[in-house]
Amino acid sequence: MEFVDLKAQYSALKKEIDAGVMGVMAHGRYIMGPEVAQLEEALCRSTGSKYCVTCANGTDALQMALMVWGIGPGDAVFVPSFTFMSTAEVVSLVGATPVFVDIEADTFNIDPNCLEAAIERVISEGKLSAKAIIPVDLFGQCADYDRIIPIARKHGLYVLEDGAQGFGGTINGRKACTFGDISTTSFFPAKPLGCYGDGGAVFTDNEEWYELLKSIRIHGKGTMKYDNVRVGLNARLDTMQAAILLPKLRAFDEYELAARQKWADMYSSLLGGELTVPTLPEGFTSSWAQYTIMLDPSHDREAIQAELKAQGIPTMVYYWRGLHQQPSYAHLGYEAGSLPVCEEACRRVLSLPMHPYLDEESVKTVAAALLKACGRE
Ligand SMILES: *Cc1c(COP(=O)(O)O)cnc(C)c1O
Repeated sequence: MEFVDLKAQYSALKKEIDAGVMGVMAHGRYIMGPEVAQLEEALCRSTGSKYCVTCANGTDALQMALMVWGIGPGDAVFVPSFTFMSTAEVVSLVGATPVFVDIEADTFNIDPNCLEAAIERVISEGKLSAKAIIPVDLFGQCADYDRIIPIARKHGLYVLEDGAQGFGGTINGRKACTFGDISTTSFFPAKPLGCYGDGGAVFTDNEEWYELLKSIRIHGKGTMKYDNVRVGLNARLDTMQAAILLPKLRAFDEYELAARQKWADMYSSLLGGELTVPTLPEGFTSSWAQYTIMLDPSHDREAIQAELKAQGIPTMVYYWRGLHQQPSYAHLGYEAGSLPVCEEACRRVLSLPMHPYLDEESVKTVAAALLKACGRE
């Protein structure tokens, strides 16, 4: 059994993907070929965003947004600690300081109460200038934008939605990657919408920022690549990856998202009475980038993972350590216990195999083996 079965997806879409790749080989426009603009249009249609700029990966996408806003040394950017390294890394890369915020135990997303407290603390200390918030749509579920955006507006902060895992999720019908002033996603192969290498995209409704993003993506270009009006990046999406993503986006919208929901529902109905399974607030849908349960404090997670592995069932721990406790951020001086909900989640989370090409038997096998390993037969 695979944790994310990319080969099953390829065999389902082989004809279209192969034709797309061969088409690029035939026209030879490997950089910024026509498929890139076609994909950007398709991504705008899929999300409802006004503008889309594809780029090299989800990390560059976040950095490009911070560059658009001129965020740099002396600025504070608020990020959840329970996330992948990129969310904070980009803040450091532009010279600003990440301020780590605790999460909600039930959604794993940034806790708006802790966020407001952190903003007020930074303002009253007066050392850093509070500039932006990067809420993460963790495991496929959007952060609580109805509460986050008013906090951002009250303090004059930008909102950068990190939708690397959130693509396809919704709140009251509105799609992920439309909640931030700028929003981003990643097409890393194992993400809900993945390509066959690295890729990413930036979304916004703001035309001025859209123009800046296109310039930053190609070395700060002005009228053309050799007219450099600012310092930018080399952050283009390969044409080949755009050609691969076009049929994959169609499959994602037509049936893959619904399949993910079906398997998540099945896991929840099999495990729900016995273990702490994911819950979605009223009006939210998830793209189930991960299906993540919380084990009981008494469970031995390593032993459970080993028992499942022995039966050929892969599981993962996202995330085993909060970013505030990573050695790379030791200099910021966060003490153990400073973000207790995040630290507790790091000890207890377990992610199960999740992808659209699961089948009923596999889901039942995983659930039965897990219940047995947890002593809940
Ligand atoms: C994967 C991921 C990223 C970075 O995406 P890449 O394409 O790998 O650079 C950023 N944020 C989160 C939350 C992610 O999961």
